[in-house]
Amino acid sequence: MQCLECSAELETLDGKHLQHCCGLTLQEYAIRHHMPLDLLLSSDQINSVESINDYASVLANPSSRAQTLLSALLLAESLQQQGEFSLIENGVRRLEQLLWYLQSLRQYGFQFRQEYSYDDDSHRVIAKNRLKTPSGYLQGMTPTVLDHALFSAVLLAEVGEFHAGYVFLRLPKNALAEEYIEGLRNNFQIRCKALDAVLGPNKGPKNGPVGAREQVEKQLYRTESLQDAHRLLQLVEPELGQIPCANERFYADVPVAMISKELVFDSAHFISDHPGKCENLHGGRYNLHVKIEGRIDPLDGFVIDYGYLKSVVKHRVIDQLDHQTLNYVNCDLAWRSSTELLNVFIWEQLIDYLPGLLEVQTYETTQSYCVYRGPKLEEMQKMEENNPLKYFANQSLGKSYLRGLLDDNPAEKLKLVSD
Ligand SMILES: [Zn+2]
Repeated sequence: MQCLECSAELETLDGKHLQHCCGLTLQEYAIRHHMPLDLLLSSDQINSVESINDYASVLANPSSRAQTLLSALLLAESLQQQGEFSLIENGVRRLEQLLWYLQSLRQYGFQFRQEYSYDDDSHRVIAKNRLKTPSGYLQGMTPTVLDHALFSAVLLAEVGEFHAGYVFLRLPKNALAEEYIEGLRNNFQIRCKALDAVLGPNKGPKNGPVGAREQVEKQLYRTESLQDAHRLLQLVEPELGQIPCANERFYADVPVAMISKELVFDSAHFISDHPGKCENLHGGRYNLHVKIEGRIDPLDGFVIDYGYLKSVVKHRVIDQLDHQTLNYVNCDLAWRSSTELLNVFIWEQLIDYLPGLLEVQTYETTQSYCVYRGPKLEEMQKMEENNPLKYFANQSLGKSYLRGLLDDNPAEKLKLVSD
């Protein structure tokens, strides 16, 4: 077999050769030369089992840097158990990030492995980049936040997302996470808003078998405002700027794209004060297109995962509207459940979760549709009660002096009005 990097004739092309000739892993070599990984591997490299004897023993007192890094990885739930080992796994595009962690984590006995296994579902051999250490070396380790900048940088690198200037973090529901969020607020004036727990920018199970990461209940946090996100990015910059791969996601100049998800719902409605057929209760199938604009994440090639987008629209919009009478969903819609007001309502349901929201397009029939581009999240936060569309919800409704005329016998009040 000839190595396509250095042209050497070899009996078998293995990781050791590549390390010396070009620095690539076997998986990277297979991708660069677009060939199936299976062809490069010998059968003894697939599903091989390791002994913990191959691991050097651990330092008695790991540095506070190593402790902080490991603590953040624990809070991010990036560590998983496999037999006698604890391991941190990351995709092919995040190899350098993993190696950056390894500089500190060697103090806990971690070593890098690229492991190959036969996958029963896809019938392919797949490669995994892992940092592994015998689980015994981590016993007695209590996660603590020793250094907010490093701790936050690692959290952002592992479970952070950056959308339209806001940072999203998806953390487990536990005391350490709450303490961390409190610490950001009290020490750095960085406020985070807890969003619906069932939702999160989920780009698929990063670690472990499919669905494994979803079993733990998670809390999704978003920086409250653009200023909070800015302060958080400033706090982490000295560290996050140094973490390979992760720094690209937050700081690199990358192309911007617009993605769209189409969902349908069936609803009934009628229009009040409208002389026409729409005054009568009638039903139909609505076709909703939700469009998001954002940076293409260089590590996964997505603006936002379609699965997450669908899950947000389903939980926030479809579940409220599908097989319902639109007039009973919301007071603005009770008056006029037009596609125009429906779009305003849908925008307000989504913007907290999707600050990159660009456009909502709703088809009432194949020939009739409405396109709405609402205010950005930052503008929405400033508007609060002054939204002109909230006529029926506005607390000042009913307070005008003219309401005196609603009284059947308003002798005194009538006098005032006619004066
Ligand atoms: Zn070579």
